[in-house]
Amino acid sequence: ADLYQVRGWGHPYFTINQAGRVEVVPDPERPSLTIDLYELVNDLDARGLELPLLLRFSDVLRDRIKRINECFAKAIDEYQYKGAYRGVFPVKVNQQKHFIDEVVEFGAPWRLGLEAGSKPELLIALSAEQEAGGLVICNGYKDQAYIETALLAQRFDKTVIVVLERIEELDFTFRAFAKTGIRPTIGVRAKLGSRGMGRWADSTGERAKFGLTASEIVEVVDRLQEKGMLDCLQLLHFHAGSQISSIIPIKQAVREAANIFAELAKMGASMRYLDVGGGLAVDYDGSKTDFHASKNYNIQEYAYDVVAAVKESCEKYDLTPPTIVTESGRAIAAHQSVLVYEVVGRNEVRFGKPQDPGPKAHKILQQLFETYQGIAPKNLQEAFHDASQAKEEAESLFKFGYLGLRERAQAERLFWSCCEKISDYAKTMKRVPEEVQQLDQVMAAMYYGNFSVFQSIPDSWAIDQLFPIMPIHRLNEEPTIKATIADLTCDSDGKVDHFIDVEDVKRVLPVHRWREGERYFMGIFLNGAYQEILGDLHNLFGDTNAVHVQLDGEGGYEVSHFVKGDTITQVLEYVEYEPGAMVERVRRQAERARRQGLITFDQVKMLMKHYEESLGSYTYLTQDE
Ligand code: PLP
Repeated sequence: ADLYQVRGWGHPYFTINQAGRVEVVPDPERPSLTIDLYELVNDLDARGLELPLLLRFSDVLRDRIKRINECFAKAIDEYQYKGAYRGVFPVKVNQQKHFIDEVVEFGAPWRLGLEAGSKPELLIALSAEQEAGGLVICNGYKDQAYIETALLAQRFDKTVIVVLERIEELDFTFRAFAKTGIRPTIGVRAKLGSRGMGRWADSTGERAKFGLTASEIVEVVDRLQEKGMLDCLQLLHFHAGSQISSIIPIKQAVREAANIFAELAKMGASMRYLDVGGGLAVDYDGSKTDFHASKNYNIQEYAYDVVAAVKESCEKYDLTPPTIVTESGRAIAAHQSVLVYEVVGRNEVRFGKPQDPGPKAHKILQQLFETYQGIAPKNLQEAFHDASQAKEEAESLFKFGYLGLRERAQAERLFWSCCEKISDYAKTMKRVPEEVQQLDQVMAAMYYGNFSVFQSIPDSWAIDQLFPIMPIHRLNEEPTIKATIADLTCDSDGKVDHFIDVEDVKRVLPVHRWREGERYFMGIFLNGAYQEILGDLHNLFGDTNAVHVQLDGEGGYEVSHFVKGDTITQVLEYVEYEPGAMVERVRRQAERARRQGLITFDQVKMLMKHYEESLGSYTYLTQDE
């Protein structure tokens, strides 16, 4: 059975091999070149690249870019569409330099451009060594300097398009033209009437944060015309939200935008580009449905539908077919990165068969033991009620001083033994009462991972986004424990207790029994979009180590970049500490304690060694040397 649904979300990049480990197929066109993820992590660990470790598979990124472009090429060919397709990658999805460098390199054969959503991102896009005429789409709120920079960069061999998100930006653009003497290439972002779908549905519609309403678009046209600049208006953009799970709202939005596009062309604008934004979803749970963690269409259908809708409008309005631009980010970036972390501890409520507390024990303990003994398939719900009630009673008896701490502990153990027996019976039954079904969650073990949810999968915490999480080895063994995942932070939100499932969301994840003295590695997959930059420094857990892994063409792999994670010194400096001064202050206090005879020379030496070494070390737990 495909317990972790790898066949769904993992295809074609991740599978499980004969050895029961996750296997990466970085380039699906060369399926024989595979990487055993567990071996890879062990190799990297042996070289001192400690976990948690973010692995970026460059070949996967190359394949994603190629896949989208080939799907559009096929759609254009089959529909005999006379215009072209140009993708732009939205820098906001992952601004890491090595990553963007790869996007630009792998995108070159397809003339993939970049989309900037802010001034810093514009600076990244302008510094990229794109191919001749490289497309740069300037979105986001802009000030005068942003627009002037964009116009000046048109003198590079780039096609820089300023997309108006607010009507005020038109004035900035006029001023920038007056100052630089460079005619702008302008786009407008439309607020569509068609509703988006899912979590980001509000990205469009009248009340959307961004974009121009129909009357504002008409105002832009009129004002450009007055200045004799209507030829500068060349692009129409909309963005219907990210992770759009159903193809229907996408089709509707493209149709509406294509009509606006046609109207603009009729009004005299030199319309050349129709930019349909992002939204192409990722199937995080592999269910191929319109559930928010999935999508009910594939990239080829998306390309067919976009091209067909645009073509239809062109024919209806007798237009020159525009270049179709997409700003897909998630669909390009998500698959290439995997976070691997180690389980460093666990907490299980397993007490097995209890001992008879005996006739002298407190009545409540005897009662719990009797409940335990009486548990049978026909009375699971009743037994669960009895046990819960007795546990509550034991707690109040303790509160009022009638039960000692040892007895309270005994009551607690008896209660968990009852739950265990009830849940064991429930597993063999077809119809299980609802309360008893929830026992799985109540009794779930907690597996502590050496990572931070806030740093590495912030969307799991912030918006309950689902990511595939699973052990990366021991997959030939049945995972007999049901667990939730806890991270290192001192925050009760630092946990994962919702997991992908084909039918619904699972509250517990099957994992393997933890074996003392043996390392247990888990992977969080499809986390390459948005997570790195949204991640924060909660509890000062910093950036994780990251590596870029690339097939070497000879059946092996090479590590093309190693980006060291934050050291404790770095995170302290983010919050304005000076580590040198901190060392001095600690040393002074240690000296004072030594003079008072409270600490020995050896202890001072040990303390200072730890303090100074820690400053240079990783923010996560490290293995003892
Ligand atoms: N373009 C714009 C304007 C966006 O706001 C976004 C993200 O929400 C994107 C593109 C990328 O969207 P996605 O990652 O869904 O492809």
